[in-house]
Amino acid sequence: MYPVKEKLNEVRQSLPEGVRLVAISKFHPEEYITAAYEEGQRVFGESHEQELARKVQSLPQDIEWHFIGHLQTNKVKYIVPYISMIEAVDSLKLLREIEKQAAKVNRVVRVLLELHIAEEATKYGLTLDACRQLLADGEWRQMSHVQICGLMMMASNVDDEAQISNEFQIAADFFDEVKRDYFPLDSHFCERSWGMSHDYHLAVLRGSTMVRVGTTIFGPRVY
Ligand SMILES: *Cc1c(COP(=O)(O)O)cnc(C)c1O
Repeated sequence: MYPVKEKLNEVRQSLPEGVRLVAISKFHPEEYITAAYEEGQRVFGESHEQELARKVQSLPQDIEWHFIGHLQTNKVKYIVPYISMIEAVDSLKLLREIEKQAAKVNRVVRVLLELHIAEEATKYGLTLDACRQLLADGEWRQMSHVQICGLMMMASNVDDEAQISNEFQIAADFFDEVKRDYFPLDSHFCERSWGMSHDYHLAVLRGSTMVRVGTTIFGPRVY
């Protein structure tokens, strides 16, 4: 078995105070999650609804699950009853569906808005302008079962550290803008979810409050 406990503790020790770790366990077996859990890790991230449902069934109830993948609106109803945070909200349509399903089960679901800043054309997420538009439109203010807690993004998958840092900085500046314009008095709006295995050390220098680390903790994924 991969040395999950050791790797988890290495990552934790490398994080400054105030940065939370979401252990990304997609495609890894339950026993790996249990190993991390035994070390005190409670926040895990998954990106597929069925895999998540299976793991929720068999693992401890006090795990906080984050949904980090692209979420189709027709899957929202399955995860809303137990999800702790939906990190990758990239449309008003998806936000509306979360509101609708969360109302049915009488929950308030915490979400992040996913930004598209990376150069890759295939990545999901809102452009900065689309995000401004969504917030300016104001419909979200009426959604009492959705709590917008911040922003999430993925940097380009490149080796150029200057480029990656620059993308994190764009996200950090945009967070400040949105905080000022829409959430100045809302203490819930505080999360900046950026940084993965290969770039989380750069992300924490650019204001990340939440890193999403998979491979470094659990090893290569087996698809
Ligand atoms: C898979 C995934 C991660 C973790 O990636 P690693 O490179 O394994 O650390 C982080 N964020 C998102 C959105 C992911 O899909």
